Amino acid sequence: MTKNFENASMGTKSVWAGEEEYLVHGATQVPVIPSVAFGYDDMDEWYDVAIGRKKGHIYGRNTNPTVQAFEDKVKLLEGAEAATSFSTGMAAISNTLYTFLTPGDRIVSIKDTYGGTNKIFTEFLPRQQVEVVLCATGDHEAIEREVAKGCKILYLETPTNPTVKITDIARMAKAGKAVDALVIVDNTFATPVNQNPLALGADLVIHSATKFLGGHADALGGVVVGKEKELVEQIYHYREINGATMDPWAAYLLLRGMKTLQLRMKKAEENAHALAAYLQSIDIVDDVFYPGLETHPNHHIAKEQMKGFGAMLSFSVKGGVDTVRVVLPKLQFANRAANLGAVETTVGPARTTSHVECTPEERAAMGIPEGLIRVSCGIEDSEDIIADFKQAFEDE
Ligand SMILES: *Cc1c(COP(=O)(O)O)cnc(C)c1O
Repeated sequence: MTKNFENASMGTKSVWAGEEEYLVHGATQVPVIPSVAFGYDDMDEWYDVAIGRKKGHIYGRNTNPTVQAFEDKVKLLEGAEAATSFSTGMAAISNTLYTFLTPGDRIVSIKDTYGGTNKIFTEFLPRQQVEVVLCATGDHEAIEREVAKGCKILYLETPTNPTVKITDIARMAKAGKAVDALVIVDNTFATPVNQNPLALGADLVIHSATKFLGGHADALGGVVVGKEKELVEQIYHYREINGATMDPWAAYLLLRGMKTLQLRMKKAEENAHALAAYLQSIDIVDDVFYPGLETHPNHHIAKEQMKGFGAMLSFSVKGGVDTVRVVLPKLQFANRAANLGAVETTVGPARTTSHVECTPEERAAMGIPEGLIRVSCGIEDSEDIIADFKQAFEDE
């Protein structure tokens, strides 16, 4: 019986969505099909598939069944019409931008985008004569002013990495629409469980699947979904030619990871709330950044546009880098690593993780203190996480 996901909720979709079409021989799980090419005995059928007149696969750089199952699942989770995938999150971001931008275009974004995205804005796009305007994150009036002057793309990320700043997507999408701009949102931190930018007016949504979608820090991937098939097809075309294709083995791991997406996000958020509250209560911590705290400057916007506040938080400590150097190695139940979104709690200073590409001056300009610690909460038991942080801070 063909499954209908129209009225299904997120947990059910996480488990079931997108897989049915790809099951063979009665298998209950989507198989990995590593074949680089797909063969045809009938020359006319081969031709029809090759020109897109008939469904099917030709060559692995273009499409692959396992990869397509991954795309279908994300599409259904985001309530999108189409999806296309990439080897990494950065490939999704760069391919999407380069699909639409040509010399002389203008793009408006925010200062706090992911470090790699920021590098595209400051290093690569300007040398292709694309004008990049980066507004203070959270300054909605400034973004509206710049967008009103005209732009091809309005590019947002919310919550941001690593200070979890929040931008009002519906308000910004309205400003973008008024000048016919494409509104793109990096939804990696929120995940489809907590935020659906397409429903808030965005045209395209990007994920680094490497993070929460996969959830187990064992596969790289990226994905773009859109309300209009035609937009996503243009991005797909750019990617099939330029070749930043997702690997079928990665697609399999990401599919498996996504089955528990809702479950993981709920638990990780519970841990993030508990840890944020604990960190706020101790002297050595200066500031705690988490959208779920009422002290967060845009808590009210987060509450409005998000179904949950997510698993990411950051905090700054007295003594800066010196304190970070002593405290972080003492944690037992946390990886000190550059990734995020895994089942294990993962910590790292912004200066060595999200914003390692930037100079201290650039980080300061983005409001990222050198002693800022980013925490991606895992799904451990919150009392153990808090006890672990407590013992790490003991002698400080
Ligand atoms: C990690 C990340 C990216 C880049 O994804 P990769 O898979 O590492 O290329 C983009 N945006 C955000 C918000 C991220 O956290």
